Amino acid sequence: MHKIFKCPECKEYTLEKICKRCKIKTINPKPPKFSLEDRFGKYRRIYKNELGN
Ligand SMILES: [Zn+2]
Repeated sequence: MHKIFKCPECKEYTLEKICKRCKIKTINPKPPKFSLEDRFGKYRRIYKNELGN
C-alpha cells in the first residue's frame, strides 16, 4: 500500500518520494483525520486505474 507524500516546496500531494516538479524530497504529511486519508485513497485509485490502462 502506497502512502501519500507532500512536497514542502510547492505543497502538492504526490505518490512519489521525490517531487517531479521541484526535484526535492517529499514529506509524509500525516493527515490528522481519517476522512482526509480516505479522500486521497479514492484519488489514488483513480490515478492507479489511469496508469494501468
Ligand atoms: Zn514540489
